[in-house]
Amino acid sequence: MQFLEAPKPARRICLLGDNALLARDTALQLRASGYDVTVATQLEQLATLGGLCCIVVDPASRGSRFGDPARAGAIRAQCAAPVPILWLAPLDKFDARLAAARAGVDGFLARPFDVDDLKARIETLAQRLEQPPCRVLVVASDAARLDGIEGALAQAGMEALRLHKPLELIATLSRHHPDAIVIDVDTPACNGVDLAMLIRQDPAFLDLPVLVLSDDRDPAARRRAVAAGVDDLLAPPDTRADLALAVMMRVERSRALRSLIMRDGMTGLYNHVSIKEQLLREMARSRRDGSPLALAMVDLDFFKKINDTYGHQVGDQVIRAIAHILQQRLRHGDLIGRYGGEEFAVIMPGTSAAAAAHVLDDIRALFATVRLKADETVFHATFSAGVADLDVAGGGADPADLFRLADEALYEAKHAGRNRVALARAGAGRAQG
Ligand code: GH3
Ligand code: MG
Ligand code: MG
Repeated sequence: MQFLEAPKPARRICLLGDNALLARDTALQLRASGYDVTVATQLEQLATLGGLCCIVVDPASRGSRFGDPARAGAIRAQCAAPVPILWLAPLDKFDARLAAARAGVDGFLARPFDVDDLKARIETLAQRLEQPPCRVLVVASDAARLDGIEGALAQAGMEALRLHKPLELIATLSRHHPDAIVIDVDTPACNGVDLAMLIRQDPAFLDLPVLVLSDDRDPAARRRAVAAGVDDLLAPPDTRADLALAVMMRVERSRALRSLIMRDGMTGLYNHVSIKEQLLREMARSRRDGSPLALAMVDLDFFKKINDTYGHQVGDQVIRAIAHILQQRLRHGDLIGRYGGEEFAVIMPGTSAAAAAHVLDDIRALFATVRLKADETVFHATFSAGVADLDVAGGGADPADLFRLADEALYEAKHAGRNRVALARAGAGRAQG
């Protein structure tokens, strides 16, 4: 039996400001959204704070103590571990943005801003910190050079997958889906640029960062590399640190782009297209492993009435609230998508429909007690859910069958009065006709 997860710990933020009143106001808004916020007015306080996911610098004015983004270096120096810095500027000025960029500040937001924008920026930075280590495929025909590259990557906290034989390149990429590839090959049969062209032939690897090591300094050769789709051509005496930095920067940008493509901007959940892709992948995995897999469709009850009564903006907040509670209370391996406006799809690997329904019913009961606010009015919202699993869907079912079954169960939950979870019925597994 799967039980409801304890809420995940709140994200810890330090709000560094020179005007305690202003900082307290920002802190209040962030705490209302569940962040664990410490307000600091002195740099030295940072040294005592652990587990931060972000430092938000909130200067009162450009002339004040934390007004100059160049202080980012001093702020970093106080922290034991790397923490992203988000700079709140009193005004949107080009020179302030430039100064922040030069100081290596990770995010910049000018006043006045919407608090939802602030939260979205914090989430993006926090998620970046939580990413698993970069996995880099290293292709080199010379074992000693392969060792050298692996060492440079390991020193920067990255994992290397080793490959000696370029012949196995495409198969290895398809199997392991690395975050980037580093190629150090120069044999009579082929070189790094040839292999880059080979990789770019396959649309599945169009966005894969490709870095090639080459001694060739001839400008024409470098042009050929760019035309072949090489992202970075590194030549000795570039140091090992240069290589690690180049890989890291490429991977960070490609991960950020992927996240923009795959996630819904309002909630940070997977979007419609990517949750469907995830279901296809998880169904294949479950069938391989012989493990159960549940899919739930979740839909807010009488949501149109909430919009009509309190306005669209409050409606948006209810959508964020349900997204938040699902993220907080589902297991780490569960995949949550915003399937449509106020409809969500939850994929629960390793879980039967009965167990999934149990968990969702606990979340349903919890959500019904959440106090939602529209100005001074407090109100409550509920949701209904329909749950299906691979067992009910049967052997030949595809993702569309599973979606349809969960949707039919959702319809039954709505029909039976809403604010409830219904299980898909066995025997309804095959599409008619
Ligand atoms: P039911 O209990 O049967 O699900 O009723 P309902 O009112 O929730 O369902 P219906 O599908 O009739 O209405 C959904 C509404 O959600 C209609 C649409 O205007 C609104 N909606 C869709 N996307 C968004 C959004 O992003 N923000 C807001 N505020 N409303 C949205
Ligand atoms: Mg609805
Ligand atoms: Mg709906």
